[in-house]
Amino acid sequence: MPSTKRPPNDELFNKYIIENKTQKQLAEEYNTSTGMIAHWLKYYQIRKLKKLSDVFTDSRGYIKVKSPNHPFCNIHKQVYQHVLIVEDYIGRNVQKHEEVHHLDHNKSNNRLNNLVLFPNKNSHVQFHKYEEKIALYLLGITKQKPDSIKFTDPVLFLGCWVYEIELIDLAESISEQG
Ligand SMILES: [Zn+2]
Repeated sequence: MPSTKRPPNDELFNKYIIENKTQKQLAEEYNTSTGMIAHWLKYYQIRKLKKLSDVFTDSRGYIKVKSPNHPFCNIHKQVYQHVLIVEDYIGRNVQKHEEVHHLDHNKSNNRLNNLVLFPNKNSHVQFHKYEEKIALYLLGITKQKPDSIKFTDPVLFLGCWVYEIELIDLAESISEQG
């Protein structure tokens, strides 16, 4: 006789989301059917956003997610995870002319505060040059403190739309926190 006694919410959450067990594994563990597990998960509104098998890291270190309904998915029905995170925040698709940059240069760090959305390739390239100037200054190789970088179209930076970025202030505020 399969068990119908529903386990507590956090217990089920931990096993399904944190330990990433399958519904089949949970059914065996609770001596019940997968249908009953699905029922409990629905009752608590516990959902896996993406199956682990739908998330890939490509040869360049970018994380891709299976998104067959996305208008700009590739032939394998995948979209960059950093693009999806920015889109989720701005509430629209990232356009072909827009580019996303990883602030810490770690292509798999897709937290929103690490992502910068540029309106075009030119502003993205300008930002890379600006980063190099900042690095030379912080290393003491150049003495002249670089001016902030200004943009004609807004850039999404630390979750805000801005026309100007001052990285030295940011570097100093981060080192103060540390
Ligand atoms: Zn970049």
